[in-house]
Amino acid sequence: MEQTSARLISLKGNRIRSLSRVEEKMDADKKFEKINWEMLQKFMDKNPEMATFLGFHDPYDKLLGDASLKAVYENLELLEEWRRKIEENIDYDSLSDNNKIDWKVLDRAHNLWKFGFYERRMHERDPEGLEGIGSLIFIMLLREYAPLEKRVEGIVSRLEKLPLSLEQFRTRFEKSLQVKLWTEIAIEKCQRIPPFFQFLVGATKGRISDQLHQRLQKAVANLNQSLKEQLEWLNSLLPNAKTEWAMGKEKFEKLLELRQLGMTAGEIYQLGVKYLKELKEERARLAQEIAPGKSVEEVLKQIQENAPKTFEEVLDLTRNEVERAKQFLTDNEIATVDERDVLHVVETPAFIAPLIPFAALWIPGQFEKVQEGIYTVTRPKDAKDLSKDANYASIPSTAVHEGYPGHFLQTARSNRSGSFVRHMGAGTETIEGWAHYCEEMMREHGFLTSKESRLMQVNEMIWRAVRIIVDVKLSQGEMGFDEAVDMLIKETGMSKNGAVAEVRRYTQSPGQPLSYLLGKHLILQLRDEVKEKMGAKYDERFFHDTMTENGYLPIALLRDVFDMRLAEM
Ligand SMILES: [Zn+2]
Repeated sequence: MEQTSARLISLKGNRIRSLSRVEEKMDADKKFEKINWEMLQKFMDKNPEMATFLGFHDPYDKLLGDASLKAVYENLELLEEWRRKIEENIDYDSLSDNNKIDWKVLDRAHNLWKFGFYERRMHERDPEGLEGIGSLIFIMLLREYAPLEKRVEGIVSRLEKLPLSLEQFRTRFEKSLQVKLWTEIAIEKCQRIPPFFQFLVGATKGRISDQLHQRLQKAVANLNQSLKEQLEWLNSLLPNAKTEWAMGKEKFEKLLELRQLGMTAGEIYQLGVKYLKELKEERARLAQEIAPGKSVEEVLKQIQENAPKTFEEVLDLTRNEVERAKQFLTDNEIATVDERDVLHVVETPAFIAPLIPFAALWIPGQFEKVQEGIYTVTRPKDAKDLSKDANYASIPSTAVHEGYPGHFLQTARSNRSGSFVRHMGAGTETIEGWAHYCEEMMREHGFLTSKESRLMQVNEMIWRAVRIIVDVKLSQGEMGFDEAVDMLIKETGMSKNGAVAEVRRYTQSPGQPLSYLLGKHLILQLRDEVKEKMGAKYDERFFHDTMTENGYLPIALLRDVFDMRLAEM
């Protein structure tokens, strides 16, 4: 504010005119931000679960939103109202550059939601209705935003409301559009959730008041009947379920276009093929250097044998590597770290493990005072797969991807600095591309040095190249489920259980699996551009800090942010 007035005074003759123009600009920005906050409030009132995830707890933590089809539609209507209000009240050209980007984000989010609602129709095709509440309770239990007693009060209130919510949810499927494969996945998750609720009862005993604990026990006992009904209902859906789940060529192409990736499905596929070829050559070369005369499979096996013997050791080692990576960033001036942030490393809860074969990050809530993330590692179904999935050469890379400077750092920094609208940018290629980019970037800086870890890294890059190929082919309906599983096993040496869990997830998230390597590719391109524009002034930390403080803007919009920042310099 002060800077603005100082500049106005120096304009002398033009003072009055400039003042009104600046005021007009400020006015537009203020109005724009006010509408955004009002609409966020409306969304949270309708979707209290979202409020909890974002970090607003009172009164939301005790509520569950309507789960019926009508409510899904009303959410889309809210987004339409948001867009309309902005278009009617704000002149785009009067906005600051920052808010112009947020406007574009809202526009893009609206188009993607419309596509989701009218064309993808997951809300009528995937009958999985428990993962959301499971995840919600999991974060309410682990994020320490309030005393445990208060958090469990919210959990209990929500569990008491769950039977009604499941009834509402089931009404979405009256048109029998459910997909068979997804119904089977939903059945597995439904069977796995009761032990999670039981765990909740055990984990809180003696840590909360007796009165509340009794209420929790009663709520969990009452849920048994309702979960039994849900399971029977899911089984009853199977005979009429659709065997086809692929999105199809036309819709997939449309999705890529709405995501503004700047490439067609065919071009992305070719990129995957090119990377796969080059990376396999590099893998073969490295294997020869490590153990001359041995095959790639033999060398990989040899590296994998050098691994922790128990799952608990894997968790401990992961914790150490997260800390080491965090310190490394500061010591080497790679990215800015905030010491107040907290990252827990725990086992993946069983109810969600069918979709997370290896590891995942549960991001911190945007408005939470302390940025607290939960890094979950999945215990393999079969103990003999342990070393295959988590060995000394691969654990550090995973810690970089999920923790520092990957998903956790990116989210924690963005939550602190960006507007909440930026997160609606949901550029999957920025989220996964960034985490994948970090794996190799950290190696360039010396975080990992052995040839063995490089070989594992190249192998994981091959996995991401296969994801591009499989994602495009599966989504377009040109590849079957088993074919995709076979390709993952053949090209990456992944365990069968791991590959099946992977492909299950791919079927439900077209366009997500291709985002890792494509995103990294686009980030490297952007880095080259920024380097060229900055010349001798280029600074790696500036690049990384700017990348991580802008929510999940798609790369196309991040380019605008860099141009803006460079112009200010
Ligand atoms: Zn990731």
